[in-house]
Amino acid sequence: MAEPARMTPPPLSAARYLAGLQCPRRLWLLENAPDPVGPAPPAWVNDSAAEVRRAARQVFPGGVAAEGQAIAALLAGPAVPAIFDAVVVAGGAQVRVDVLAREPGGWTLVKVKGSGSVKDHYLDEVALQAHVLGEAGAALRGIEVMHLNTAYVRGPDGIDAAALFTRADVSAAVGARIAAIAGRLAVLRDVPGQTVLPFAEPGRQCDTPYSCGFWPRCASDKPKDWVRLLPRLTAMQAQGLAVLGVEAISAIPADFPLDGRQAVIRDAFATGRPYIAADLPRLLHRFAPPACYLDFEAMMPPIPLYAGTRPFQTLPFQWSLHHTGAAGTLTHQAFLAPHDADPRRAFAETLIAALAALPGPVIVYSPFEQTQLRQLAAHFPDLAAPLGGIIARLADLLPVVRGAVYFPAFGFSNSIKAVAPALSPGFSYDDLTGIADGAAASAAFAGMASGSITDPAAIAAQRRALLAYCERDTLAMVEVHRALQRAASQTDGGQSA
Ligand code: SF4
Repeated sequence: MAEPARMTPPPLSAARYLAGLQCPRRLWLLENAPDPVGPAPPAWVNDSAAEVRRAARQVFPGGVAAEGQAIAALLAGPAVPAIFDAVVVAGGAQVRVDVLAREPGGWTLVKVKGSGSVKDHYLDEVALQAHVLGEAGAALRGIEVMHLNTAYVRGPDGIDAAALFTRADVSAAVGARIAAIAGRLAVLRDVPGQTVLPFAEPGRQCDTPYSCGFWPRCASDKPKDWVRLLPRLTAMQAQGLAVLGVEAISAIPADFPLDGRQAVIRDAFATGRPYIAADLPRLLHRFAPPACYLDFEAMMPPIPLYAGTRPFQTLPFQWSLHHTGAAGTLTHQAFLAPHDADPRRAFAETLIAALAALPGPVIVYSPFEQTQLRQLAAHFPDLAAPLGGIIARLADLLPVVRGAVYFPAFGFSNSIKAVAPALSPGFSYDDLTGIADGAAASAAFAGMASGSITDPAAIAAQRRALLAYCERDTLAMVEVHRALQRAASQTDGGQSA
């Protein structure tokens, strides 16, 4: 009986190709399993990438959008200086090419990236595009990655697109990768149609170059305290534990070489008891109430929004401030800048006024606030003295948590979002809707400031969500401080539960 004809697998999109390069199992799951990342984010979240691509088009005056035309017709058509967003299917893959620039001797493929440099994994994407264009008959004379120039400073008259971008010639760097594309595509195109899920042990590939959303599924059969999660695990340690057959942190032998923090974590999991350093009371001494608890939110717009700013410059737009009095009274105030102007001056002035009226150290939970205050002082010399006064009052709680406390419920993070619920049962971020982390806060404000969000109801909702989120962060710091004070009061000069 004749064998059934083998079906030719469909062309692979660039996104699927890159997923397959990272991990064939990820490619299979993307095609065959439900989406692991849940519902799509609001459209404005992705607007910064679209904004960068729109700005990049200004570098090629006279260029035209492909708008669904076939690549052959575009290449042979009128002598336009550039073609934007051409979708090309050839050689077993489908790609969307940001810019094809017509130059003497042929076309230059330009991949636009909203980053400040050429990253290695960009070259795989560009190589795929060059392969597909070559298969489609385009004579390429150059291959470039066009990324943002982080030294560019926006002038008073707006964006100078040619100066905003840096064009990096990557022709030589992608040469070897282009030669490998056909073979890689031949292998990867078969993956989605395989009847069995490819096996892959979760490892470094799960975060490189992209964080893979299938991690919970792939790691579901691992212990909660899987050794791979141990902070700063070296390749030699991982190998040593594999030889010993140790999968759980709690099972790591006492004589296995670990650094100080790793040993603390191992002991906490093995005994089920938290670690509290004997000198915690001394470390907390300068944090005692009355005290202020301060947190900033900031944005880093890729395309500078204001004169005098650079791509990705950090611009604080919001602060939250809790204060505990000596008698334990808790008050709160906050500032959220209007989104139609550079927020920094109002941010600094309101903060100076608020803290001038409150006694005590200014407790933070990262070095970020100090960095921002220093930058504000440098930018506003007339405010340098009061901002310097705030800097002198800062007391960072994070090094105390990192060095003197460990609860297994922290998991493997010292972030306030992991530590506060662990130290203060019942405290949570779970009820926050819309904005529940710094990246979302940054994207929301940048979306309003850049004009991507214009609906008044959406703006009002975003501003409410921003205020609620930042307030929760400083409340978390209050809870952590109080929990540490309780723990310190129970220490007896050694490790304590
Ligand atoms: S979590 Fe890791 S092993 Fe699983 S599919 Fe993703 S990259 Fe592959």
